[in-house]
Amino acid sequence: MIKSAACLSISACRCCGGADLAGVFDMGLMPPSDGFSRSAAEPDATYPLEVLMCEGCGLAQLRHTVAPDALFGDDYFYFSSYTQTVLDNARANVEAALARFQPGPDALVVELASNDGYLLKQVAARGHRVLGIDPAPHPVEAARAAGVETIHAFFTEALAAGLEAEGRQASLVFASNVLAHVADTQDFVRGIRRLLRPDGTAIIEAPYLRDLVEHLEFDTIYHEHLCYFSVTALRELFGRQGLHLNDVERIPIHGGSLRIFVQKNDAPSERMLKMLEEERETGLDRPDAFQAFAARVAAVGQELRDLLRRLRAEGKRVAGYGAAAKGTILLNFFRIGAEDLVWIADKNPHKHGLYVPGMKVPIVGPERIEADAPDYLLILPWNHREEIMRQQADFARRGGRFIIPIPQPRIVGAEGRAA
Ligand SMILES: [Zn+2]
Repeated sequence: MIKSAACLSISACRCCGGADLAGVFDMGLMPPSDGFSRSAAEPDATYPLEVLMCEGCGLAQLRHTVAPDALFGDDYFYFSSYTQTVLDNARANVEAALARFQPGPDALVVELASNDGYLLKQVAARGHRVLGIDPAPHPVEAARAAGVETIHAFFTEALAAGLEAEGRQASLVFASNVLAHVADTQDFVRGIRRLLRPDGTAIIEAPYLRDLVEHLEFDTIYHEHLCYFSVTALRELFGRQGLHLNDVERIPIHGGSLRIFVQKNDAPSERMLKMLEEERETGLDRPDAFQAFAARVAAVGQELRDLLRRLRAEGKRVAGYGAAAKGTILLNFFRIGAEDLVWIADKNPHKHGLYVPGMKVPIVGPERIEADAPDYLLILPWNHREEIMRQQADFARRGGRFIIPIPQPRIVGAEGRAA
């Protein structure tokens, strides 16, 4: 079902306002990726999921914006602190930023989409004043309980203007994995401009379109992710609001991301200019970037379904690991359901007893892996596969095998060896 009031179609680019939007990948109707359902029987809401690319500024983006209320709110239970990879990345990010930019003792450090305070706790531990801003109630409660001052709200220019009026501007602004989620991207960027001190730096991480395309990470496309960024598109986005994308690093998190450094002065680094040049040469700033993408993804789906059906025919039992957002998309797009996966184990207790929306695979606690002893675990958050395989070393020692779905389905045994 489509709740049309909750879902709006855009007619202009989210960055440049241009109207030349080319359809490049259409996934049809998909449930919200984090909208875990309480019922195995009741149908879940679905919304269109289609990627467009702006011929003007090169920004890949969704055609539809689903209202945040339909995606977040009480049913949103993603806690950053449950994922070691996210914690490790945050620690490396904080350490490098404090060493490079040397904020003074009174400097304020802000994180946008601060979740449960996973990053700011590390900044506070080094003696800096911190402020978090996040719209999801459960993670905000957790952050406050951990002593991280957190404003429970979506970050907007109006909110930043209020902080500016109170004299609360930031020397460092962190924003990891949030820019792509914002419906009014330009308002968010104007907010960053207001929030930053004249000598401040915003350090922003977002999944990189190049990794998405090259490694067939179609399951990182979901309703919350409204934009899919290249350096070209990001530089344009910030430049339009009087900010400068001066430097960029490629980091491995979330299947391959960009960490960009945005400032008020114009001081482009050599490596940033080199990446812009590479993107021009490889066509990442044009709709051609998605040429053959849909066909390659469909082939992976066929291969994975064939593998699961072959294992079932051999009498093997396959379970899933990690009821992550990308798992919802992968299972629904490939039509893999409870007849293929007996259940999905997840560490987050808030998800236990719920179902993956659409395909209705039940979510259970990780203790079921030992109790039920399936033969295979399909790792849905494949970007955390190494961490998961380490945690499930006992499962592998007992003869269990892992299935990694992307970019090509493969079976691996203990410590990631091909099996
Ligand atoms: Zn555009």
